[in-house]
Amino acid sequence: MNLILLGAPGAGKGTQAEILCREMKIPTISTGNILRSAVKNGTPTGLKAKAFMDAGKLVPDEVIIGIISERLAEDDCKNGYILDGVPRTIAQAEAMEKAGIVFDDVVSIEISDEAIMDRMSGRRVCESCGASYHLVAVPPKTPGICDHCGGKLVQRHDDEPETVKARLEVYHKETEPLKDFYRVRGILKSVENQPTVTETSQAILHALGR
Ligand code: AMP
Repeated sequence: MNLILLGAPGAGKGTQAEILCREMKIPTISTGNILRSAVKNGTPTGLKAKAFMDAGKLVPDEVIIGIISERLAEDDCKNGYILDGVPRTIAQAEAMEKAGIVFDDVVSIEISDEAIMDRMSGRRVCESCGASYHLVAVPPKTPGICDHCGGKLVQRHDDEPETVKARLEVYHKETEPLKDFYRVRGILKSVENQPTVTETSQAILHALGR
């Protein structure tokens, strides 16, 4: 099962990807997490990506295409994977298609910009493993500490309100056209965001026929 999760920044892709990955026993691949770890480690890719990320802009397609083709070639992707945050542009989707990467389903999580702005202020991520939390909706067992790895939970620089606005604009302009791209290929499933994380997961699993 090769799956793409689409949705605005803050739609809950990361949280849902973690749940689906446990349920379906396939890895989640998040280019955002790969890039944040590259920035933290000061790798050449990280150095290239940092300024774009801090400004809420997209990292150039060729950087992303390089990262993703390397990652999908790894052994744990043999039985399928969930992509979170990629592809993000038509050019990325076309490059993946050209490389022979085929998707079974594309799930788009639908949520209003207003709801995103409200929710982003509470988002926290683990600085070690990238797991996502929300102060109200998905709190960690111990405040400030990751349930999975014990890492420290932090607010992302790009979750600040002005950057979130910029990221939403980029989403509508660059990423939302992917819905039509996959709709004409017959694999788009739109799922409305639900009041709770669990209900949204159930809606996604239902849309996937599980
Ligand atoms: P995310 O965690 O998916 O919200 O990604 C955080 C930031 O990383 C984005 O705002 C972009 O700057 C960059 N990024 C992540 N994935 C991509 C992608 N597929 N294409 C371009 N930039 C990306």
